[in-house]
Amino acid sequence: MPTPLYGGIEAGGTKWVCAIGTGPDDIQAEIRFPTTTPAETIGRAIEFFRANGSERLVAIGVGSFGPVDLNPTSPRYGSITTTPKPGWADTDVVGTLTQALSLPVGFDTDVNAALLGEHRWGAARDCEVAVYITVGTGIGGGALVGGKLVHGLIHPEMGHIHPVRDPARDPFPGICPYHGDCLEGLACGPAIQARWQIPAEELPSDHPAWELEADYLGQAMATLLCILSPERIIIGGGVMSQPQMFPLVRAATQRWLNGYLQHPRILAQPEAFIVPPALGARAGVLGAIALAMQAVAG
Ligand code: ADP
Ligand code: ZN
Repeated sequence: MPTPLYGGIEAGGTKWVCAIGTGPDDIQAEIRFPTTTPAETIGRAIEFFRANGSERLVAIGVGSFGPVDLNPTSPRYGSITTTPKPGWADTDVVGTLTQALSLPVGFDTDVNAALLGEHRWGAARDCEVAVYITVGTGIGGGALVGGKLVHGLIHPEMGHIHPVRDPARDPFPGICPYHGDCLEGLACGPAIQARWQIPAEELPSDHPAWELEADYLGQAMATLLCILSPERIIIGGGVMSQPQMFPLVRAATQRWLNGYLQHPRILAQPEAFIVPPALGARAGVLGAIALAMQAVAG
């Protein structure tokens, strides 16, 4: 009997990545394309799986931008719900895929999926409690507690916590349409660009933007430590590809904790505590494959 194959979709607001395989060392087909309309984008994903032998697949997993409805008893389960992304509010992702491919579909937030992938194969392998944050076009966070992804009432929305902003240091009011100066409003890639009038990737590494950015992220790390006590925090996303960011964020986390939480991992080995995704840029799509595996494992 051939090895069961799984499909994964990293459904981002900017691009979708689809892959078929069984893990990091076994990706048999992969495609990426820009996110356009729901019909066209989901259609391209369906086409990809059909063209690559969807009859060999046992399940599909989707890690999606959101907010999403993860409550299996809700009539809107499997949908992207109140997103401000034009055309995408109330998009039934799971229903459309199930109907077209007749396969079980695992569904979660993009960041929860990436965390599940990291838990299965990457940087959170040895963790019962872990967090995954992405700092890119937006800021999102997923959580794993007792080895299980946290959904709760809706799902975590860690990007919308409020760090302390000192208007004397940072008069920029933030760009979140709901909150202004929440974490995402102050520290996502487009917020950096709006504050400094230069795309984040073009700012020099010694620009004061990075110390400020790290300070906000450090506040978020300290808050997460106080609330969830994660054994590891993984931070991904385009903004974190600046090599100076990890040391700055670790230092800012220490500063905001101010010696209160005493654990060698926090104090002596911060580089093993706040880490990049071990699966790199593939964390999202591999996480989606892990969701597919979870969907059939029950
Ligand atoms: P998305 O969040 O859409 O999945 P990314 O994680 O790549 O995609 O995030 C895109 C954001 O990250 C943009 O705002 C961009 O300016 C910023 N970004 C991308 N690369 C870099 C870089 N090397 N340095 C700083 N910021 C970057
Ligand atoms: Zn917000």
